Amino acid sequence: GGFVIAIDGPSGTGKSTVARRVAGRLGAGYLDTGAMYRIVTLAVLRSGVDPADDAAVAALLPTVDLVTPTDPDAQRHRLGDVDVSDEIRGQHVTLAVTPVSANPAVRAFLKQRQQDIAHSGRMVVEGRDIGTVIAPDATLKIYLTADAQERARRRHGQNRSVAAHAGQDLAAVALDLQRRDSHDQARTHAPLQAAEDAVLVDSSTLEAHETVSHILRLASE
Ligand code: C5P
Repeated sequence: GGFVIAIDGPSGTGKSTVARRVAGRLGAGYLDTGAMYRIVTLAVLRSGVDPADDAAVAALLPTVDLVTPTDPDAQRHRLGDVDVSDEIRGQHVTLAVTPVSANPAVRAFLKQRQQDIAHSGRMVVEGRDIGTVIAPDATLKIYLTADAQERARRRHGQNRSVAAHAGQDLAAVALDLQRRDSHDQARTHAPLQAAEDAVLVDSSTLEAHETVSHILRLASE
């Protein structure tokens, strides 16, 4: 098979930063599958379709033209011809991504694309179901965790640079993470869980560069 490092786990663990840097250090590609769910969600919101209407959302999928970057140093996401990199991090998308990502038709639609990209070369793939569903044969599977308080603190720090989240306080961020994680864990299709053969890495007390070194060490074993 090919070379795939799967990095899964809940939000706020520093997953994106770590996955991107691991890819950079290995000269590999990087795929942010959460961004793909966010782009589909944005397309749903723009079309005026109810994000919780599974059939209507499924009918919309053939019109969703998403362009997914794999260069770890150039992560610009597009929907059609428009750069939506900032907009997909906004709160309206973050709120609606939960029902959209629970839709089996959406998961099947993105699974196909994610597997095509994962098989296109050496790749670090980041998400919730990479080790379990997208790349069950991955070379290395990491399940990144951090305690809830630390995750909220990190996400709050990130949000300060995103206009759509400015002013949201730490408690609100903690609540939103909790809401999304419990939905991700409870859904029937591809629930958030560690693959049996994943290596659990707790990043609560680690700096990003330490987590990166740890994963690179595991990758070279
Ligand atoms: O990682 P990020 O926070 O951008 O992901 C946004 C949402 O997309 C998650 O809360 C989750 O519901 C969904 N997701 C998913 N499967 C993935 C990646 C993300 O269901 N592989």
